[in-house]
Amino acid sequence: MTTRSNGRIPATLIPGDGIGPEITQVTVDALEALGSPFQWDVQQAGVAALDATGDPLPQATLDSLRRTRLGLKGPLTTPSAGGFRSVNVRLREAFDMFANVRPAKTLIPGRYENIDIVLVRENVEGFYVAHEHYIRVGDDPHAVAVSQGVNTREGCLRIARFAFEYAVTHGRKKITVVHKANILKALTGIFLQAAREVAKEYEGRVALDDRIVDACAMQLVLNPWQFDMLLCTNLFGDILSDQLAGLVGGLGLAPGSNIGKEAALFEAVHGSAPDIAGRGIANPVSQLLAAGLMLEHVGRTDLANRLVEGIRRTLIDDNVRTADIGGRASTAEFSNALIRRLSCLS
Ligand code: ATP
Repeated sequence: MTTRSNGRIPATLIPGDGIGPEITQVTVDALEALGSPFQWDVQQAGVAALDATGDPLPQATLDSLRRTRLGLKGPLTTPSAGGFRSVNVRLREAFDMFANVRPAKTLIPGRYENIDIVLVRENVEGFYVAHEHYIRVGDDPHAVAVSQGVNTREGCLRIARFAFEYAVTHGRKKITVVHKANILKALTGIFLQAAREVAKEYEGRVALDDRIVDACAMQLVLNPWQFDMLLCTNLFGDILSDQLAGLVGGLGLAPGSNIGKEAALFEAVHGSAPDIAGRGIANPVSQLLAAGLMLEHVGRTDLANRLVEGIRRTLIDDNVRTADIGGRASTAEFSNALIRRLSCLS
C-alpha cells in the first residue's frame, strides 16, 4: 500500500447507483470527521457510468483500482438492456477478488440478540458467475435455459485457506462449510472436500463442521448462535448473507468486503434500492460499516472501532434510526447525529 506525501492512502471511491451517492457521501463525511486516512479518487461504475461514458465499467475506473488496489464502492446497478454482465461480477473477476467477507453482528436490539457470525463467500466461481445460454427448439429460441457452474479445486482450496486464516487472525474457533454435496455432488462436493483438506492444517486451532445449505438456512432461523463462521460457495453465500443481514436487523446494517491479491473493495451487502433512491431515507449504516472494514484492512483499527462506536451510540443512545430499522430519521439527520457523536469520541 502506498501513501501520498500528505500521508493519506490513495483509494478509489465509486459512489454507484440508486441510493449509492447518498450513502457514500454520508460515509465520506463521517470518515472526514474521524480524520480520514484516505485520499479519494472518485470514479464511476454501473448505470451512472453507462450514462456518462457509454460503458458500465469504464477503463478509468479499472485503471484507478489497479493503481490504488483499494476501494469503497456504493451499490451498482447492472443496466438491464444491452446484454451487460453484472458489473459487480466483472469487478471481482478483473482483480481476482476471490473472497467475499460478510460479518453480521448485532448492533441494535431485535428479534435475535448477540448475533456474531462471519460469512466467507467464494466470489469468482460457481453458479453465480452466470455462464448461461438458451437452446433453440423449433421456432422458440428460448425453449431451454442452461446454466453452468464451475468450481475448481484450486479455487476451493484458496477460499478455504482464506477462511481458516481469517479465523486464526480474528480469534474465531469454528467454520461451518455450506454445501449441497448430496445432490450437486461434483460442484459442491469439491468445495466440501477442499474445506476438509485445509481443516487438517488447522487441527486444534479451528474446528470444521458442515451443513447442507437448506438445513443451514433452517438452523440459522432456529439457532443462529451455534454458528461462528460460514464458508459458502458463491451462490449459497449470496443467499445466506441476506439471511444473516435479516438476523441483525436487515440489509441496512450489513457490510461486506471483496478481497484478493490485486485489490480490496468494500461495499454494503444491499443493492442500489431504486425504490427509495433520491428520497433521503436510505440507511447509510451498511456503507459506513463497510468503511469500518476498510479501516481495519489498512491497519487503522483505532479509527474502525471509533466509527463503529459512533454508529452504535447514534442508533442506541440517541435513538436516531432510519425507517428500515424502525426509526423516523432521514439519511441527513442520521449523518448529522453521527458526526456529532464522532466529534465527541475523537
Ligand atoms: P439487487 O438485485 O441489486 O440486490 P434489489 O432491489 O433486489 O437489488 P436491494 O437494492 O438490496 O435489492 O433492496 C431490497 C429492499 O431493501 C428494497 O426494498 C430496498 O429499498 C431496501 N433497502 C436496501 N438497502 C437499503 C438501505 N440502505 N436503506 C433502506 N432500505 C434499503
